[in-house]
Amino acid sequence: MARQDYLIALGSNMRHALYGSPRALIAAALKALDNANCQVVTVARVIETPPLGPSRRRYANAAAIVRTDREPDAMLRELQAIEHRFGRRRTGKAWSARTLDLDIVLWSGGAWAHDDGESSLVIPHPFFRERAFVLGPAATIAGRWRDPLSGLTVRHLLARLTKPPPAPR
Ligand code: ATP
Ligand code: CA
Ligand code: CA
Repeated sequence: MARQDYLIALGSNMRHALYGSPRALIAAALKALDNANCQVVTVARVIETPPLGPSRRRYANAAAIVRTDREPDAMLRELQAIEHRFGRRRTGKAWSARTLDLDIVLWSGGAWAHDDGESSLVIPHPFFRERAFVLGPAATIAGRWRDPLSGLTVRHLLARLTKPPPAPR
């Protein structure tokens, strides 16, 4: 496959015995992602956000643009291999504490969906439009990227999400 750009969301909310804080772990994961097959082109500043769901730890989140000739399924496998290497173990419970989460938000190839019964991959990431912790970092490095479904840019999606509600009359 020809060279593609991927917008990756990174998240962590657990200390790692070797790498330390979620913030340090994200930095180490970015180094791991930057290898012979994947080039990390741009990285957003790490932000810290309060937890969502049952886990009470704080989250560190970031975003990166990664250039590679991998097709989406191979890219997801690479991301999952890195999650595993950084100590992520799948518990089956949604939103449980995890050392590292790597999601594909967008890529330069438009919309993509693949489900072979065992694993599934949907790009754009189905929930990214509603997540400030994804759109915030993403807007700083990929503000002009467009969501192929709504046609809106990342910057616009963030503005829409964080817009204050209309004042009561
Ligand atoms: P969420 O998807 O709401 O952010 P999560 O990241 O905690 O939740 P995971 O347990 O990490 O969910 O992933 C569940 C499955 O989601 C993965 O096994 C993967 O096959 C699938 N998936 C579908 N689309 C994507 C995507 N764009 N990026 C990463 N994983 C995806
Ligand atoms: Ca996620
Ligand atoms: Ca994930």
